[in-house]
Amino acid sequence: MECRKGCGMCCIEPSIVQPLPGMPAGKKAGEHCVNLDLSDYTCKIWGQPEYPDFCRIFKPEPEFCGSTRTEAEQILRFLESSTRPDGRSGRV
Ligand code: SF4
Ligand code: SF4
Repeated sequence: MECRKGCGMCCIEPSIVQPLPGMPAGKKAGEHCVNLDLSDYTCKIWGQPEYPDFCRIFKPEPEFCGSTRTEAEQILRFLESSTRPDGRSGRV
């Protein structure tokens, strides 16, 4: 599938343990990446040398992205909580 315009949920809902530009300790679940442009939910560093490899590898899939932004939020939030060893959301 094509990445949905105006979504950005994969840059908000999941926790990221790897360092991100501007976020050396990664980010918590529900915290938006500082590289996400909140005016249109696009990545401000896409295509730049500092764009992280793990962001490059992540591809849109209906299984994760759903068919709407709200569905993506729900799916990614559920996956985040269900993959934590303590079963908690760990959200900010
Ligand atoms: S959740 Fe999926 S559709 Fe939304 S921004 Fe990420 S890859 Fe694109
Ligand atoms: S660097 Fe860009 S693509 Fe990666 S999580 Fe941050 S905003 Fe999203």
